[in-house]
Amino acid sequence: MAIEDDVLVIGGGLAGATAALAAADQGGRVRLVSAKQSTLRHASGLIDVLGYTPSGEGPLSDPFAAIPDLPRGHPYERVGPDAVHEALDFFDAIAGDAYAGAGTESNALVMTFGGTVKPTARYPTATAAGLASDDRDALLVGFETLPDFDAPLSAAHLESAGVPFAVRGVTVRFPGLARDDAKLTRYAHLLDRDERVSAAGGSGAREALAATVEPHVAGASRVGFPAVLGDERADEVRADLADRLGAEVFEVPMGPPSLPGVRLEELLYDALSDAGVRVTTGVPVVDYEPDAEGAGRIDRVVVDRNGTDVPHRADQYVLATGGLVGKGVRSDRERVFEPIFDCHVPHPADRYDWFVDDAFGDQPYAKFGLPVDRDLRPLDATGDPEFANLRAAGAIVGGYDFAAEKSGAGVSLATGSVAGRGAGAEVNDR
Ligand SMILES: Cc1cc2nc3c(=O)[nH]c(=O)nc-3n(C[C@H](O)[C@H](O)[C@H](O)COP(=O)(O)OP(=O)(O)OC[C@H]3O[C@@H](n4cnc5c(N)ncnc54)[C@H](O)[C@@H]3O)c2cc1C
Repeated sequence: MAIEDDVLVIGGGLAGATAALAAADQGGRVRLVSAKQSTLRHASGLIDVLGYTPSGEGPLSDPFAAIPDLPRGHPYERVGPDAVHEALDFFDAIAGDAYAGAGTESNALVMTFGGTVKPTARYPTATAAGLASDDRDALLVGFETLPDFDAPLSAAHLESAGVPFAVRGVTVRFPGLARDDAKLTRYAHLLDRDERVSAAGGSGAREALAATVEPHVAGASRVGFPAVLGDERADEVRADLADRLGAEVFEVPMGPPSLPGVRLEELLYDALSDAGVRVTTGVPVVDYEPDAEGAGRIDRVVVDRNGTDVPHRADQYVLATGGLVGKGVRSDRERVFEPIFDCHVPHPADRYDWFVDDAFGDQPYAKFGLPVDRDLRPLDATGDPEFANLRAAGAIVGGYDFAAEKSGAGVSLATGSVAGRGAGAEVNDR
């Protein structure tokens, strides 16, 4: 017998989690199934909303002003600026104090670990004191054991980029960590638990770290560390270090793997649990069956549970399986395809036209994904909805290049919220 729900969301990334929360907000019985961990754990935790136009203009201060000029088929053009606003409001309500940037139309500029500045709409509160628009002097602190963040080099890059503050960088040894290959969570746990470390006479990790950094502060009003300052007690760790250093403390978002990404994932999954969404991970959807009456609807999908096919039936479905990175869109030598429902993925017939030689050029494959209507229903090659009860959200939606536009999380949030709300509302209308 099939498992029955009102709305079934396929995919457990930012788009799927948002869709499931938005559908549950409409009161329906919602389930989320996901094959593996999403890209959230690798992403920066920033919610970027159109930092740059598709042609590379920017950074954009007001992303909403640029939405009406986006090409037809771009996800933001499909849902419209009001829906992007509503999605951000929805996110703000879920994230609460954990995120900053609410209540403004403008993108903020945050420092990156590479020493550039990046436009973003919502950013972890831990990052807030590190905004590049802030004119207070800053010290960046890197750790010998985390070579990805070269603090002196980042500081030099920021200064040559003309930031409105003086910035210095210093590299120190993280007290109590001898291993160069320690996981990020090891740094976070040492600080969360304030574990005794051998340095500085066996004091706690926070005191020892502050004692190591304090001689370098030299009047800086804010001190930035790589984003490893605690996990469960991150606010407490930052406040404690700030007290000891006599300066505000912030985190600089890092590349993958990323603790802010993990924290965002935890925040969303707690919200899913609170909203009563049934979540099953480690179970790929491998197939589907259409409605027997030929009504252009999906009747059920087939979930692979440890080698056993388990049918799941729902009134409405949201496909949020990610793009080429998340494996929601795949390619072989012949074609680019969507593996569950075989939805239409427009792409040039000749595979040599899928990419350009210039690695930094405008890569066609970056925009591969499903074309959708304004309700986010995937469209077939003739422009008709593939199924009446299927919507798509997130990186699987085509027509934009998340890396170039600095807009991946924003698209997932906006399309997830529209798709989930639409699916939930349609259940209520039946
Ligand atoms: C390294 C990195 C850094 C990034 N940094 C930023 C940033 O700074 N700012 C920003 O805005 N965006 C950033 N992004 C982009 C942003 O994170 C993504 O665009 C966005 O999170 C995509 O979310 P998604 O839910 O659509 O897809 P994904 O996160 O890819 O999730 C897809 C989910 O679907 C599941 N799935 C796939 N196939 C199946 C199946 N058959 N059955 C069931 N489940 C399935 C996967 O297991 C996964 O859980 C970054 C992305 C990466 C990879």
